[in-house]
Amino acid sequence: MWIDSHCHLYNCSSTELASLYEQAARHRVTTLVTTATDVPTSMEVQKQVLQGSTTLSLYGACGISPESALREAHAADIETLSSLVDTPGIIAIGEIGMDGIQNAYPPMAQQEKLFRRQLRLAKTKDLPVILHSRGVERHVLNILQEEEIHRALFHCYTGDAETARSICNSGYHISFSGIITFKNAHFDTVIRACDPAKILIETDSPYLSPEPYRGKANTPQNAYLIGKYIATVLGISEKTAAEIFQKTFSSLFGTPAPNFS
Ligand SMILES: [Zn+2]
Repeated sequence: MWIDSHCHLYNCSSTELASLYEQAARHRVTTLVTTATDVPTSMEVQKQVLQGSTTLSLYGACGISPESALREAHAADIETLSSLVDTPGIIAIGEIGMDGIQNAYPPMAQQEKLFRRQLRLAKTKDLPVILHSRGVERHVLNILQEEEIHRALFHCYTGDAETARSICNSGYHISFSGIITFKNAHFDTVIRACDPAKILIETDSPYLSPEPYRGKANTPQNAYLIGKYIATVLGISEKTAAEIFQKTFSSLFGTPAPNFS
């Protein structure tokens, strides 16, 4: 019933994947989006999606993250990406975007160039985008509007409540990770500022384990802890929260509509 809308599984062996899928399903995490960060990991994501899973629904996102903006900005990489995203089960271009916080990342102009190229690819392919945006949410929001992007998910949202409201009002979506469960994180106001029908959850595993597993390696099974946390903040049952997320997921990514019977 829970969906992990963003995890990184490209370093997992097939044996590790099988046990990770099984563990996730046991924790009622029944849908995963395995997400890439550059061209080699996009190829790995395609491989995993084609292999599929017998225990859960597996989808993929291919894209070049801002961290890789210097070495991956070549036309050939966009062409490779363009053919990878035609694979059935690849439901988005991601993660892509801009990061104004990490000093080690390429210059902003370089990041923006690659970001816009991939937004144009998403438009050509009629695919939604999964966004990495740190400290530059307003700027990213403006770019989305300039490029006339209609379907976007701000992954691992850490911006403020006012920007969250603008994102939802612009028709875009927000995904929360385990960060919201951290003590002193203060994201409850941000969660309440969002339109509940625009919220998704994710683990961003192997990073960002939610409480009470903070600091340990993260896996998609922990998505239920984030779902549970949001349900509590919104004052709704876990079942209702999970159903809202499922409807949101299928309308954003064009996957089969959920059946709640
Ligand atoms: Zn990620």
